[in-house]
Amino acid sequence: MTHLTTLSIIIASGGRYELHKDMIGSILAALPESCINLELDLDPVNIESKGPGSAHICEMISPHLSRLHHLRLEIGTICPALFGDHFAIDGSLQRENPPPLSHYYYPALQTFIINCNFWGSALTCNINGATAASEALPPARVALVQCLRHLFLRGSFPRIRRLWLLDGQLNDNNDESVYAAWNRRDIVNNKTWAIPWIDVKGPTPMSFYSVIRTPEGRELVTPSQYRSVFAEDQTWKETTLGSRFPAAVLADRGDFIVRDPPALSVSEYRSMYKGSCLAWRHEQITGRKLLWATEREGLVDRSPLHEITPPGWRRGICGFYPDNGSTDTQETDINLNTIEHARGPNFFWESEPSLYPLYIAVSEYLKIKPRIQVLNERCGVFLVLAEILSDSIADNQTSCKFMRFG
Ligand SMILES: [Zn+2]
Repeated sequence: MTHLTTLSIIIASGGRYELHKDMIGSILAALPESCINLELDLDPVNIESKGPGSAHICEMISPHLSRLHHLRLEIGTICPALFGDHFAIDGSLQRENPPPLSHYYYPALQTFIINCNFWGSALTCNINGATAASEALPPARVALVQCLRHLFLRGSFPRIRRLWLLDGQLNDNNDESVYAAWNRRDIVNNKTWAIPWIDVKGPTPMSFYSVIRTPEGRELVTPSQYRSVFAEDQTWKETTLGSRFPAAVLADRGDFIVRDPPALSVSEYRSMYKGSCLAWRHEQITGRKLLWATEREGLVDRSPLHEITPPGWRRGICGFYPDNGSTDTQETDINLNTIEHARGPNFFWESEPSLYPLYIAVSEYLKIKPRIQVLNERCGVFLVLAEILSDSIADNQTSCKFMRFG
């Protein structure tokens, strides 16, 4: 272990392994001085325990910070104790006369990524004995960005290139124009990128992909478990041997081959899986882009990310309509959501993400899509009727006779 330079521990969510915090705490306590790159990606549902790191895993990371070059954390509970006990749990300084800069100096740190997971609920470490399981803990993101910004302005990160915190926000089932997004909080530049993602169907009924539009200008389609990798702009990468390193380290190493996460272009995805989503359909109808990664001022903005409605168009209950001042309903406007377009209820994201594929499968089994097509055809009959009546009134005719057959 004396030559270890990079340690990456990933505990898959939903796996069989029961993670106790003190196991990680013990590993961190034994970390050799040679280790300069650290990644902890742990299941957010940590098992409480009584050993080292149980109260604050942050306290076990803190002693290593001053020598680390690259650090990535995705852990269930986190707090400003990461930087020492002078910070209160809300990220403010506890003392009027803070200690000198040397107490908070991280001269080698080049990239530091904190991922609060896609519903943004990495929680503050135990307050008044509350546990993550009790769900009585507030989200940690605001305290952390305040603390990180304060340290950056003090000059604590002289070599930093990426100092990002990521959290997510969901779509709004009551407002079709609101899309789910990752928030990439750029502490150095005091900006936030809202990065939209949209679910599309995967290659099987039990899998699903996401469309992502990144601040780097890419639009790609990837299996949903990889979307955060692109929100983080692949700051850490995996090799063909299965090990993980900071991308900056791999760039200087010719002896490793990077295994990039699967990513398809839109045209590749469409030709392979024939999937679609409302955003693509709306953009096809209006002939312009309506949703993109958006930069916002500051580090705490969580306002909804909207798909825009362009001039000359209006948003109806079933899609976009040319805004020509008419209240007539066009036959082509009627198109109820198909299963490709329907979004799962928020329940699946917040509580039981593993049930989402089941939701898709049940919808397929109940043949919702063909049933919707039948309804659309019936709507078409009524639209034709409305058109005839409209023409009849316009022509000032006094009678209109319909015959029923069968
Ligand atoms: Zn903590």
